[in-house]
Amino acid sequence: MNKPKMASEKGVPSNSRAQILLAQLEKLTGDGMVRDPEMARQITSKLLHLIQTQEKTSKEVMSKGTSGMEVILSSLESTRDIPTILNILCILSELLTLGKGRRVGVFVSKGGTAVLLRILISANKEFPPNEELMLQVHSLLAKVGPKDRKLGVKARLTGALNVTINLIKKNLQNVKLLLPCLQVLRVYSANMVNAISLGNSGAIELMFKIVAPYSKKNTSLIKVSVDALVALLKSKTNARRAVEGSYVSTLLALYLDWHRNDTWHRHTVIRKGLLACLRNVTNIKLGRRAFTKADGMRILYNSSSECLSVRTLDPLVNASSLIMRKCFPKNRLPLPTIKSAFHYQLEHVLASGPVAQLYSQPPGGRTQAQLCSEPLKKVDDVVDDSDDNEDTEADTENDTENEEDEKDCRSPNDDIEKDINKLHPQKIPSRPYEELRVYEKFFVELSEDFQGYNFESPTTSSPAQSAQPIVVPTPQALSPNHVTAPTAQNVSNASAPAPTIPPLQLETSQFGKDFNKKEEAHNQPAEQEWSQAPEYGALNADEMRVKQKASPISAPKPTQSPLLLEGIAIRCLAAGGAGGGGSDCGSEGGEDEGGEGAVLEVPDTAQLLPLHDLDLYVEMVKGTKSVPHYTEVAYPDYFGHVAPTYRESLLERLYGVQRSKIFQDIERLIHPNNIMDKVVYDLDMPSCPVIESDGESLRFNSKFESGNLRKAIQIRKYEYDLILNSDINSNHHHQWFYFEVSGMRVGTMYRFNIINCEKSNSQFNYGMQALMYSVQEAISGRPRWVRTGTDICYYKNNFARSSIATGGQKGKSYYTMTFSTSFSHKDDVCYFSYHYPYTYSSLKMHLSKLEAMRAPEIYLRQDVLCETLGGNSCPFLTITAMPESNSSDHICQFRNRPFIFLSARVHPGETNASWVMKGTLEFLMGTSLLAATLREAYIFKIVPMLNPDGVVNGNHRCSLSGEDLNRQWQNPNPELHPTIYHTKSLLQYLAHTQRAPLVFCDYHGHSRKKNVFMYGCSLKETIWQSNISAASSDLQEDLAYRALPKILSQIAPAFSMASCSFVVERSKESTARVVVWREIGVQRSYTMESTVCGCDQGKYKGFQIGTRELEEMGAQFCVALLRLKRMTGLHNHQHLLDLESDLIGAQPKVVSSCPTTYVMDEDEPSFLEAVDYSAESNDDDTEVDLEAVASAASVAGAGGEVPDRPSDAESNNHDAWKSEPVTGSQ
Ligand SMILES: [Zn+2]
Repeated sequence: MNKPKMASEKGVPSNSRAQILLAQLEKLTGDGMVRDPEMARQITSKLLHLIQTQEKTSKEVMSKGTSGMEVILSSLESTRDIPTILNILCILSELLTLGKGRRVGVFVSKGGTAVLLRILISANKEFPPNEELMLQVHSLLAKVGPKDRKLGVKARLTGALNVTINLIKKNLQNVKLLLPCLQVLRVYSANMVNAISLGNSGAIELMFKIVAPYSKKNTSLIKVSVDALVALLKSKTNARRAVEGSYVSTLLALYLDWHRNDTWHRHTVIRKGLLACLRNVTNIKLGRRAFTKADGMRILYNSSSECLSVRTLDPLVNASSLIMRKCFPKNRLPLPTIKSAFHYQLEHVLASGPVAQLYSQPPGGRTQAQLCSEPLKKVDDVVDDSDDNEDTEADTENDTENEEDEKDCRSPNDDIEKDINKLHPQKIPSRPYEELRVYEKFFVELSEDFQGYNFESPTTSSPAQSAQPIVVPTPQALSPNHVTAPTAQNVSNASAPAPTIPPLQLETSQFGKDFNKKEEAHNQPAEQEWSQAPEYGALNADEMRVKQKASPISAPKPTQSPLLLEGIAIRCLAAGGAGGGGSDCGSEGGEDEGGEGAVLEVPDTAQLLPLHDLDLYVEMVKGTKSVPHYTEVAYPDYFGHVAPTYRESLLERLYGVQRSKIFQDIERLIHPNNIMDKVVYDLDMPSCPVIESDGESLRFNSKFESGNLRKAIQIRKYEYDLILNSDINSNHHHQWFYFEVSGMRVGTMYRFNIINCEKSNSQFNYGMQALMYSVQEAISGRPRWVRTGTDICYYKNNFARSSIATGGQKGKSYYTMTFSTSFSHKDDVCYFSYHYPYTYSSLKMHLSKLEAMRAPEIYLRQDVLCETLGGNSCPFLTITAMPESNSSDHICQFRNRPFIFLSARVHPGETNASWVMKGTLEFLMGTSLLAATLREAYIFKIVPMLNPDGVVNGNHRCSLSGEDLNRQWQNPNPELHPTIYHTKSLLQYLAHTQRAPLVFCDYHGHSRKKNVFMYGCSLKETIWQSNISAASSDLQEDLAYRALPKILSQIAPAFSMASCSFVVERSKESTARVVVWREIGVQRSYTMESTVCGCDQGKYKGFQIGTRELEEMGAQFCVALLRLKRMTGLHNHQHLLDLESDLIGAQPKVVSSCPTTYVMDEDEPSFLEAVDYSAESNDDDTEVDLEAVASAASVAGAGGEVPDRPSDAESNNHDAWKSEPVTGSQ
């Protein structure tokens, strides 16, 4: 069969009997058939006999190159003789039964279906129609129909729909005829216009006459009619018809009957079909209401619970779960408003900005009182009022299960920048130099002459002093105070070039051993010794004390509050008083005086955490300004984090986790009496925390820097719903979380649900765990965040999102991130976090320590770039090597070093970016030869935290202006986006003085992909991807932008070149990367994205990422810069290009043929349980007025061709993503 050529040559002699008969038939075709019906009858009868008896005959008729099918079809068309027609239909039936794939294709391509329909119509004109003929025609149509995409339209236009439906109506007892008719009806109904038309003709009611309760008889009939019903009910008009006919309860009753009686599971197909009917009916609101009213939730919950144990019934359970989730009444989040619990009064509000819109705030501003008294406005409008009073059809099917994800995987080409003008460097002169001149003070190194500086130091061999003073051309004479008194740390060397503007208020001289503090410490009663891990040195109890006074908040502190400025001892009372009770915190309980008034001690982490200092941290916190005026310090930030010595594997996901979580959620509705619904923490209540410890509930807290828990509700004894606070001055953006838990029971499994997540998918579904920090562990010598949690999954829930928070999209839901965990210590205080926290105060501490530890040969300057809206300073660092001497050569070399410009943490929720930055800073300040060489090669300008306010206040993405700062680079507002405005100004200053940086890189974190990777900008790659005209193909662009990521992929184990992209997207046109590339003209302008999850390639494959790996990444970035330098003679530009091309291993032309793939936001394959993702009705689909089309079409032969509706998959929600707000991670 697969060798048609052989067959035609050998197997089919042209004079075979079949060929002879076909030739005779061909002669008769036309008038002959009518004139000599007897002859036609005989020939067809003989041919049929031959085909039925000799296997080779059908091969001969159907073999390629013969015209057998044409002859048969044309004779069928020309005859009116019923016996002849029946003969031919039987012949066709025989022919198409075997090897049907290709043969049916031939039949369809030769116009066979049209011939069949014509016979059907003419037979229908007889009364009564010939039953045998109808049977045969329908059987054939059922066989070939699925292969003919146009059959639906043809049938409608010829009027065949009504023929079939009438035939069914009249032959309900005639099983033999009924079956093929139903099969054809099923084919017809796949076309949406047909479905509506058939519905108008009573097809729904008709199907319900055939679909029956459980029976062993006629199951194939029931199966086909259920299938037809599924197809019919995809139409909303039909779904409405079914609801109005009270068929929802019928469907439920039928399903239950089959569920109960089909004990051997032989008819799961029918059961699944009935569920599919319910699924389609509940796509409309009316259907969901009817379903709930008919007790559908309970029926499906109970029946699927009974199916859970049988794995083969999973499709039933999943289908039930989908329906239940869809019908689960949508709720509002239990909040008074989704606007952030805290509001920050801005001095300047743009009338068009988000804050003005959200708070109806006129540009002039308003008082807090006015704001509070405003009624809850549309921001919380989340009623499920989408769709379905309309009569128009909006039928789309929802069974592509990852519907939501597909929306996100929008066609990549749509976001590619296609405007060639926007891809060329911007020629507009940025700003006049007079305006930029003020930024000179941030580049003291360009004018410094080091005349008063003593280069002789114990650690560096002193170069010969140059005899002559050097005159270095500078735009401005140095003011005398450029070289000011050295800081306390380096008095002896008089080394550090002092900043020209005030440094950060780090007050480094104040930390350490504050006398008053000591005094108070000694006044503490009953100190206690805590066990120490061997790796730590002796504890210095004095270091632990925190001042007992001066809390700006006078409210009494609950005992569970974390470390306070006013006294860490409080907590220890509880811990010590517990007398050890199974806890791991060593000797605290037994030996001493009952622990009364015990003082917490922590290990000295100085050796392991050289940049950490507990007292200094507290000092830093005091200078940090938060909107809620936090006075507490979280233990993890206070004690610090020492990365565990082991690696943490990606969590393997257990089968069925999501389903069982969803069932527990549904159970809340089924058994509401089992739900506690007890609010245990609520920022919106003045008396928060709401409850005093009653031992029955966990205690929560997040009133500390970067904390953001808004509300905690106890659902069951060991289960809590948690709600995250929105970014300040915003009504959404939640993903980052950081909160404290205490009052736990040891060894009990607790379930936590964060119920207002926004992204449609998460790495929590792909192996990522949350992080937990145990204070008991910390004081036992293991101060660290560890990956924690089992039964983790992330899924869409029944809490509706306000369309105002979704950018106008209606019908959106929140997502739940759920995890379970147990606690191993009694009286512990534990913290949970989305990713390793890194606070603004930590940054200040680290910078202060780095400065204190600075080696004399390092040039480090810390400036304050500007103040943020919230009154915090934005640090700006300059790091390079001191010149070897103040000789003119050395000074000249010093000043001419190329700039490297780095920034991080514009997105506060991306703490990984800070850890990478910490790695970079530590490397740069290190004593290695590599670091020294690197410092001598470049001048580093670094803004380590572009959004301090966001970090301090626990935001996920925005600054206090309620905006994403990484979308403001094109036109930053000096009042609203000061850090961006001034950082851009620094770059503009450099560009103006012809010193634009060699590399610009902004560090970010990525929540939906693994590994570390970069986004860069390439004109050519963008053009290739966007398929703009070939006219641009001769554009010149060198490949310099590829060198750095290429080097990184070679040296940094977490880095993946495959994930890099160099395409310029429209949605990113106002990001740092694109603006610095286009406006400042930096070819190597990057975003570096680090995963929050882990790696799926390289040395760390299969592991979650930790701070060690992140810091290593930051160090490797430096090494890569050095390699970039080494491989290129930086003074010879052409040479550089050649070398980089060599490095890339290809000439531009070659690379040009295979640009990097455009990388979409998410690249995880869907997993088994993906089915449950989209339990949402597609109510807000594009409306297509199919009803009108259908009624027009129901007038058979009414003229014009009605366009066939595209298949369901094609039509499914194409455009939905367009209105989705762009939330890329950069
Ligand atoms: Zn980001």
